Amino acid sequence: MSSVPVAVVTGSNKGIGFAIVRALCKQFPGDVYLTARDPDRGQKAVAKLQEEGLRALFHQLDIDDLQSIRALRDFLKEKYGGLNVLINNAGIAFKVHDTTPFAIQAEVTLKTNFFGTRNVCTELLPLMKPYGKVVNVSSMVSSSALGGCSRELQQKFRSDTITEDELVELMTKFVEDTKKSVHEKEGWPNTAYGVSKIGVTVLSRIQARMLNEKRKGDHILLNACCPGWVRTDMAGPKATKSPDEGAETPVYLALLPSDADGPHGQFLSNKTVRTW
Ligand code: NAP
Repeated sequence: MSSVPVAVVTGSNKGIGFAIVRALCKQFPGDVYLTARDPDRGQKAVAKLQEEGLRALFHQLDIDDLQSIRALRDFLKEKYGGLNVLINNAGIAFKVHDTTPFAIQAEVTLKTNFFGTRNVCTELLPLMKPYGKVVNVSSMVSSSALGGCSRELQQKFRSDTITEDELVELMTKFVEDTKKSVHEKEGWPNTAYGVSKIGVTVLSRIQARMLNEKRKGDHILLNACCPGWVRTDMAGPKATKSPDEGAETPVYLALLPSDADGPHGQFLSNKTVRTW
């Protein structure tokens, strides 16, 4: 078994994830795994970094596919005996003018951004080694979407006692409410992406709390962050940050020094803790 530290970035064949891998290849003292749902796109991305003189390793990972997540889990367990850095970056967004019915957009978006990310956490968090770092890439849109929720929902999403099961129930309810066209009446904002990222931010707060309760002595730091508005296929060419700039906050959180006792359980943008 290798004692080399290991970092994994989900959805890293392009965009911000690719830039995160590039930065980690330069700064992380260990093996860095670029993962992609499509092995061909993933291997091409690894080759591109190789041309830059950087060495990333590849492993397939489709966060919508539990078998794929478990295959990565087993690989990490066997080869490294765990994991030092996990960056949950993979995500999707429908374009603003997409005509897909809202209920379908809600189901598809939540499936990857919330349920897929949660499944990765469920399988990989138990592998995190002491002093490990977990970064969940959310969005400032989670904050604006929270502001668009009913007062009752806001209270639940800001609660310091909400459980993961309760959060899953709420995310499931959102999808069901969109199918019945009652989501606005039920206090939800009109954004599937926004609700999915509320899920990611709140999940991060819950997971950090669980780490405090169950693994306090392991000094694992877990946070959610927004990369900013970044020029990728998702956000388009008018966005203000380059992918390398978008990678800065996630990489900062992934490389917090081992004697840091925070941030933990926070939501950050531009390396700054934001009020949730
Ligand atoms: P992007 O260029 O569209 O890249 C998204 C990445 O996620 C791609 O590698 C994609 O793979 C992968 N992915 C999607 N579904 C996946 C799945 N089921 N399993 C594994 N990988 C999957 O988007 P981006 O702008 O870099 O976004 C990265 C993250 O930042 C997302 O979580 C996004 O919500 C967040 N974010 C972005 C912005 C922004 O302005 N760009 C702002 C706030 C937050 P394929 O190539 O196979 O599709």
